[in-house]
Amino acid sequence: MDYIFYPNLKKEFPIIVKGEGIYLWDNKGKKYIDACSGALVSNIGHGVDEVIEAIYEQMKKVEFAHRFKFSNEKIIELSEKIIKISPKEISRVLFASGGSEAVETALKLAREYYVEKGKPTKYKVISRWQSYHGNTMGALSLSGNVARRVRYSPLLLDFPHAEPAYCYRCSFDKNPDECNLECAENIEKLVKREGPENIAAIIIEPIVGSTLGAAVPKDGYLQYIRELCDKYDILFIADEVMTGVGRTGKNFAVDHWKVIPDVICMAKGISGGYAPLGAVAIKESIYEVFKKGSGKFAHGYTFAGNPVSAAAGCAVIDYLNKNNLIEKCEKSGDLILNKLEILKEKYPFIGDVRGKGLMMGIEFVKNKRTKETFDPSLGLTERIVDKALEEGLMLYGAALCADGTKGDAVMVAPPLTVTEIEINEIIKILEKVIKDVFESIKFWE
Ligand code: PMP
Repeated sequence: MDYIFYPNLKKEFPIIVKGEGIYLWDNKGKKYIDACSGALVSNIGHGVDEVIEAIYEQMKKVEFAHRFKFSNEKIIELSEKIIKISPKEISRVLFASGGSEAVETALKLAREYYVEKGKPTKYKVISRWQSYHGNTMGALSLSGNVARRVRYSPLLLDFPHAEPAYCYRCSFDKNPDECNLECAENIEKLVKREGPENIAAIIIEPIVGSTLGAAVPKDGYLQYIRELCDKYDILFIADEVMTGVGRTGKNFAVDHWKVIPDVICMAKGISGGYAPLGAVAIKESIYEVFKKGSGKFAHGYTFAGNPVSAAAGCAVIDYLNKNNLIEKCEKSGDLILNKLEILKEKYPFIGDVRGKGLMMGIEFVKNKRTKETFDPSLGLTERIVDKALEEGLMLYGAALCADGTKGDAVMVAPPLTVTEIEINEIIKILEKVIKDVFESIKFWE
C-alpha cells in the first residue's frame, strides 16, 4: 500500500527502479531519458559506481557523528574541494541538506553578520519577483513566484521584491540593445526607498531557473549588483542552488561574469542527487566578523556535515573534474542551443530559447510578435511535460508567473555526461512532443 502524500494528488507517479547514465526505468520496464536531470540535480548522471562506492566506504567507517562535538574526514575534504572551485576570497563553508536549508542559512547569516558588526537595523533581504529560493517559509518569503507564494501569504517576512532581469519580457519594455540595466537600477531604487541602513542582503539567482526557465541577465547586470552591495554595505548572496557546481559550464554561474558574491548557496548538483546535501560558501571577511565578535553563529541542522552526504559530494566533484564534465557541458550546451534555435525558427509558438551550458529554457507563446501567452486554463506547460513523459522524455516545467499572468516554458538540462547521439535523441523526441501538443490544442486551426 502506498501511503505517500504526493504533491499532485490526482496523479499516479511511475515507480522508478533503475538509473544509468541519462536514463531511468520504471517498474513496468518503461525507459525515460532524464533530459532535465530530475530538477537539475543529477549532473553526473545515474548509477555512477565511483560515487556509490565512496558512499559505501564511508558508511562502513562511520555513518554519523553529531556536528556539535565532532567533525569528520569527508566534510573536511569536501570543504577543501568547494573552496577550490569557488571564486577567490570565498574561503569558508557551512553545510546543509538541501537548497532551502542553504538559503535559510544564508538569510540568518546575513542577519547575524550585521548584528555582530554593530549594525542591527540591517535585517531586510531584497529579492526579485519571479525568483525561487526554496519552500521553507523564510526562503519562500524571498521567492518571487506569485503562484507558489499565494497560498501561504502573508508568509513570515514581508521583504521587498525588485523587478527581475528577464530580458525576453523586460519589465521596462526595453529591447536588449536599448537596455541600460534598468532592472539593476530598480534594485538600487528599492535599496534607497527601504533605506540602506535596513538592508542586510540582496539575493539573486544569477540565471533564473525554476520560475523563468533559464533567464540569463544582460552583461553588466551582476557587476552592477556587486557595486551596489559594496556602495551600501550589503551582502550579495548568489543563490546557485540550481546553477552551481558546473551546470552552466562554469563552476558557478557568477564565473561567467567574473563577479564574486559574498555568499554562495549551493545544493542539487553538489551531490548529483546521490545524497541530500547543500552548502553555503562565504568570504573570509564575513567569517572574520563572527570570529572577532561573539565567536558563534547560532545556527545548524542535525544532518549538516553528515559524512555520508559529504562522501557523495567529494566523489561527485572528483568525477566532474576527472571527466572534464564542466568543460564538456559548455560545448554540449552550445550544441543543444543551436538545435533549439532551429526549432524556434521552424515553429511559430516558440518565442524564446535561452540559457547557458546545460541549463536551457524554451518559452512558448501564442504570437511571436506580441509575445501573447496562452490561456492558463490550457495548462500548456503541464501538457508538454506530461506528453514528453508519455514519450519517455523528462522535461522540467518552469513555473512562469508574472504578476498573475502565467506563461509557459520548459527547461532542457540533461546530465553533463550527455553525448551528441543522446542530444539528437532528446531533440527528436522533443520536436515530436511539441508538434503533437500544439496539434492537440488546435494551434494551426
Ligand atoms: N534555490 C533555487 C535557485 C532553486 O532552484 C531551488 C530548488 N528548485 C531551491 C533554492 C530550493 O532547493 P531545495 O528544493 O533543495 O530545498
